[in-house]
Amino acid sequence: MTIEADVAVIGAGMAGVSVAHELAADHEVVLLEQESRPAYHTTGRSAAMFLQSYGGPEIRALTAASRPLYAEAGDLLTPRPLLWVASAAQLGRLDALATAQPALVRLDPSAAVAHCPALRPAWVAGALLEGDASEIDVLGLHQHYLGGARRRGASVLVGAAVRTGRHTGGHWHLDTAAGPVRAAAVVNAAGAWGDVVAAALGVPSIGLRPMRRTAAVARATAVDRGWPLIADVGETFYFRPEGAGVLVSPADETPSEPCDARPDDVDVALALDRVNEATTLGLRSVSTAWAGLRTFAPDRNPVAGPDPAAPGLFWLAGQGGYGIQIAPALGRLAAAAVTGAAVPAALSVARFR
Ligand SMILES: Cc1cc2nc3c(=O)[nH]c(=O)nc-3n(C[C@H](O)[C@H](O)[C@H](O)COP(=O)(O)OP(=O)(O)OC[C@H]3O[C@@H](n4cnc5c(N)ncnc54)[C@H](O)[C@@H]3O)c2cc1C
Repeated sequence: MTIEADVAVIGAGMAGVSVAHELAADHEVVLLEQESRPAYHTTGRSAAMFLQSYGGPEIRALTAASRPLYAEAGDLLTPRPLLWVASAAQLGRLDALATAQPALVRLDPSAAVAHCPALRPAWVAGALLEGDASEIDVLGLHQHYLGGARRRGASVLVGAAVRTGRHTGGHWHLDTAAGPVRAAAVVNAAGAWGDVVAAALGVPSIGLRPMRRTAAVARATAVDRGWPLIADVGETFYFRPEGAGVLVSPADETPSEPCDARPDDVDVALALDRVNEATTLGLRSVSTAWAGLRTFAPDRNPVAGPDPAAPGLFWLAGQGGYGIQIAPALGRLAAAAVTGAAVPAALSVARFR
């Protein structure tokens, strides 16, 4: 039996569930996920941070536009300041960041070490503080959108990989692992598989580049849960308290095919080395490690809007390392592209590229 809908959303990561939630308010939506559970890929593997000073101007505008929308989802942000730190060799970058983002507060090395006494005074040459950064309850946000979409009548199909599709007679006809689907519009929210899905639908790719990023929880003693997230301005490591240990990352960007990403031991060791160089934490072992694919368009901005070459096809891809924090605004923007609704000026920063 063919499933009929106004809109078929491909992918039930944060992108897919956010746009499905918006669209389900007044459209019949079917959400198609290839895995047996949603949020299995990149969405379930993030560092869960909301950072207003992270990314280029378009990302920062989407982040700022998202902040008030979190209130609609409940109490999902917990304060966790961000401390950008610089070694002596990185002071030029710190100055550039300070100039580009005057809202950041400059700290001298001793003030930086006061925020995290594990930092080596001899390593930190300067710092910038984003005092109102937060940790995001990622699964809470995902569930807010997924549960909300269901309550608005959306069908959610897991084990429903979209294999092929064609546009005829004013509709998309999708062949999926859960059976045929017919919909007037399709949203490609397939994360690292965005270009694979485009090929399956017979439309040109947009040059998405999945990049593997590694994270681990390292065993550590004497960690204060109130420490900020600490990231070096050269983007070679970051760490923050996590449970009884610290979450660490070497901030790697290794090109990858779309896949179920796995951490490489070398990248985990690199994260420990770099954090140990800047701190007295003396990290030696990890309790868990994981990796996920952060997927970028060539200009590193999200792609949200209609495909000019394919009627009824919309993209919601290329969220890179920001796809959780910008999901509230980007989901709304993508839904407006599908329905033709006016987009508030504050959100008109991502477009089809
Ligand atoms: C280590 C790490 C740290 C990060 N930290 C942060 C952070 O602190 N803050 C932040 O905002 N972002 C962060 N990110 C980035 C963020 O996680 C991503 O931008 C976001 O999860 C992307 O969501 P998505 O829905 O596009 O992709 P995904 O979550 O990967 O969802 C895409 C879905 O599409 C499905 N799919 C693919 N092909 C098909 C098909 N043919 N048919 C049906 N379904 C299909 C997949 O199975 C998948 O479930 C981090 C990422 C990593 C890896």
